[in-house]
Amino acid sequence: MVETLNLRVTPEVAGTPARLTAECARSLGVDVSRIKHTVIRRRSIDARQRKVMINLSVEVHLDAIDSERLKPVTIDYKNVSGAPACIIVGAGPAGLFAALELIELGLRPIVLERGKDVDSRRADMVAINREGKVDPDSNYCFGEGGAGAYSDGKLYTRSKKRGPVEKVLNIFVQHGAQPEILVDAHPHIGTDRLPAVIKAMRETIIACGGEVHFGTKAAALLTDSQGAVSGVTDTTGKEWHGPVILATGHSARDVYRFLSDAGVELQPKGIAVGVRLEHPQELIDRLQYHSPKGRGKYLPAAEYSMLTRVRDRAVYSFCMCPGGYIIPAASAPGQLVVNGMSPANRGTRWANSGMVVEILPDDIPDSNDGDNALKIMHFQEEIEHRFFEAAGGTQQAPAQRMTDFVAGRLSADLPRSSYPPGLLSARIDQLLPKSVATRLQEGFRQFDAKQRGFLTSEAVLIGDETRTSSPVRIPRDPATMCHISLPGLYPCGEGAGYAGGIVSAALDGIASARAVAATFQ
Ligand SMILES: Cc1cc2nc3c(=O)[nH]c(=O)nc-3n(C[C@H](O)[C@H](O)[C@H](O)COP(=O)(O)OP(=O)(O)OC[C@H]3O[C@@H](n4cnc5c(N)ncnc54)[C@H](O)[C@@H]3O)c2cc1C
Repeated sequence: MVETLNLRVTPEVAGTPARLTAECARSLGVDVSRIKHTVIRRRSIDARQRKVMINLSVEVHLDAIDSERLKPVTIDYKNVSGAPACIIVGAGPAGLFAALELIELGLRPIVLERGKDVDSRRADMVAINREGKVDPDSNYCFGEGGAGAYSDGKLYTRSKKRGPVEKVLNIFVQHGAQPEILVDAHPHIGTDRLPAVIKAMRETIIACGGEVHFGTKAAALLTDSQGAVSGVTDTTGKEWHGPVILATGHSARDVYRFLSDAGVELQPKGIAVGVRLEHPQELIDRLQYHSPKGRGKYLPAAEYSMLTRVRDRAVYSFCMCPGGYIIPAASAPGQLVVNGMSPANRGTRWANSGMVVEILPDDIPDSNDGDNALKIMHFQEEIEHRFFEAAGGTQQAPAQRMTDFVAGRLSADLPRSSYPPGLLSARIDQLLPKSVATRLQEGFRQFDAKQRGFLTSEAVLIGDETRTSSPVRIPRDPATMCHISLPGLYPCGEGAGYAGGIVSAALDGIASARAVAATFQ
């Protein structure tokens, strides 16, 4: 017999299997010897009150183990060699999940990826960190696994589609992610574990008869006599034929440019702009867990989430990375832009998050050349270039202590930071657009009023953060998922403006694959 219990227990009980089993027996009113197995199915931390508690949903196997219920959910991917091909441009989460879904639906994915395989990519990231050298095809944004590969691997999503989200998480587990991601309210894989998972996904695609081509950059769309998209050409001039799922991410500015030059309809899309804020993790633990002793033995590195509105624009924390690092996320020379990530154990002594201000298309003046679709992208480029120049053309990042930023003065010195290329003291309050800097200053005061101690000289702002989402939307028909005027082109994932994270990009990849498959029925 299997019973499901909803428990609210202390971190110590949740973290000690024998005590948890005893708690289950007490709740069920049975002798502990009858409990043969327990499985935690949901876990969340409630740190709203002084006493931090853990909410658990526990499956309790009484008298015997029901092994059927313990079997992992896996997909049996069939061989699709010889099936009709579909071209997927980009091997980020959207492209990889689209490829696996196509296989499930009996189509053959051909994935084109400008960057390198996930292991070879690593050396190029070392070069950015150590020498400030940015390879425009292999960096923290480009290469197998996309921007998600060397990320935190946080798998939270606002999507309420429970079934599809579970499918995404199960596919990650089938390819080697830790099963805890199926349980935690805030699951994450970790930057150290993601590459192996991504490689396993590629191996499934190839084993089933799909193809993955690295160092292959799409440079133009091919169209047939009716004007429908019938494939792409790469930079060597080679043609790849089939319907095209375009999943090139938010940093492929050359893709937006070639689409715009070809007259493909694009629209400007709002983004958010600001900085990375880094605190000592220990300080965040003390604040979030309401204890001078910090997180203790049983609680993970604490997270936070901040949101307010200042002069009609949202100011908020974004992609918070407990126990993480700040990294240089430029995708071409001449840019400086940072982002954050953390390993599976969230074990560094720093906590970082993006602290950003919402920018709407109407906030940015129209372009002189009339090409308004790309005006937010140009705004992003200007900021990234300004920070790059302020850093003397290196990947060292301009930085300012949080209290100095709010007071509008240069920091006399800077705290130690996780950012590998190092920091330079600078007036971030002057480098950011004024509308962003002043809203952030006010936002920080408000966050401190909610959580005393958050605004501190121990925290440092590192700039800039601009790659929060796509600056362009590639418009598509919601029913067919095709571009509104180009049949055969399936704009997909974050770069097309339909996702804002790993899980939502994966879900969009799955939906795009289903839309393509529907045209073959
Ligand atoms: C450092 C960092 C940390 C992050 N942390 C998280 C996190 O913890 N959780 C979360 O949900 N999200 C996180 N994100 C965001 C997340 O990674 C993205 O939302 C997600 O990867 C978007 O998926 P995508 O497949 O749409 O695009 P991408 O992941 O950007 O993939 C696009 C792919 O297309 C390829 N490509 C581009 N142009 C071409 C071309 N012309 N030809 C061929 N290939 C091309 C690129 O090389 C890339 O591999 C993070 C991002 C970064 C940079």
